[in-house]
Amino acid sequence: MKNPFHIMIIPTLGCPGRCKYCWSSEEGSPVMSVDTVRDLVAWLKEFRNDRVTFTFHGGEPLLAGADFYRQVLPLLAGELKSLTPDFALQTNLWRMTPEIARILAEYHVPIGSSIDGPEEITDSQRGEGYFAKCMKGYEVAKAAGLSVRFICTFTNKSVRHKEEIFDFFKAKGLDLKLHPALPSLRSENPKEWALEPADYGDLLVYLLDKALENFGKMEVMNINDLCRCVFTRRGSVCTYVNCMGNTFAIGPEGSIYPCYRFVGMPEWVMANVRDRPTMEQLMQSEPGRRMTAFSDYVDTACKDCSHIRYCRGGCPYNAIAPSGGELEGVDPHCPAYKRIFDELNERMNAEMFDEPPSGMGFGLSVSRKKKPGVMTLMRKISMQ
Ligand code: SF4
Ligand code: SF4
Repeated sequence: MKNPFHIMIIPTLGCPGRCKYCWSSEEGSPVMSVDTVRDLVAWLKEFRNDRVTFTFHGGEPLLAGADFYRQVLPLLAGELKSLTPDFALQTNLWRMTPEIARILAEYHVPIGSSIDGPEEITDSQRGEGYFAKCMKGYEVAKAAGLSVRFICTFTNKSVRHKEEIFDFFKAKGLDLKLHPALPSLRSENPKEWALEPADYGDLLVYLLDKALENFGKMEVMNINDLCRCVFTRRGSVCTYVNCMGNTFAIGPEGSIYPCYRFVGMPEWVMANVRDRPTMEQLMQSEPGRRMTAFSDYVDTACKDCSHIRYCRGGCPYNAIAPSGGELEGVDPHCPAYKRIFDELNERMNAEMFDEPPSGMGFGLSVSRKKKPGVMTLMRKISMQ
């Protein structure tokens, strides 16, 4: 069960990597001080009384160094015990050391990292040497007993190698989580790497088939999340719920943003942790109003869509940021969401008609071994 409240801590926007499609790294970015984390703790004690997950994100969060984690993990876990905090960290692993790994293992911090498939494909998108440095850090993390999962960014170039990428994850015994490359707001050619919505939709359907073909051997996390949405008729990851008010990101200097994707954009600062704002004050800030306007807009723009309950117009960042804060539409990935949600619903309905309830086989052989379908996957997910 995911925690209802999510705080993303961005210790720095700096990163030693040079991924070609990255939009969130800034050279010379300051590093968060422990005093800022103390301000964060003081704010959260009064702010909201719910189970919380803290995700350290970046830039590259390991640049904050071992001392930072040695101090802030006990601070957050101890001072905010009533919120039963969980932790997570998203890193390229280049700066993972046995010392940091030991501290993270003490607090059971699961690690999310990023590789885009085999070394050649990864390095062609993330820069020469990325893969080797990431794998070196992976070994250090594993040796300390940390759990590591990899996110694979699919770009308009790597999607042509989807079979090779899937086979790579399978051969390595890794579950797959995918991320579509977004248009970079900081590039002169924002769409250079971005995955087109139609290609993203095709990719999701391809991965659904692969997940079923490899049922019990390998998982595709996005497919699990999408199945959970359709099965429960509720969004299960931030893209498909109203994230406003449930997710906030804290920048290196304590500024509060609606999500890590906005960190470093002054026009998206809602307040600072040292001012201990209330939820109402955050909602009344200019970015808070813009996020609420998105949710209201979705009620109208998506009202005729059968997936609105568990899609909610997708990600507001994707919708608003490329147009400089103007509300011009829902998440541009809408065609991809529609494609996979339609596919899941159609298959679910077909399988339900196809499958007589137990004891109603009317003499037909129902013990025939069938290939796993989406209902098999949904049943498994509902038990997790
Ligand atoms: S803005 Fe997008 S990425 Fe950020 S929390 Fe909301 S849905 Fe998730
Ligand atoms: S699939 Fe598209 S139209 Fe339907 S709710 Fe999602 S964003 Fe809106």
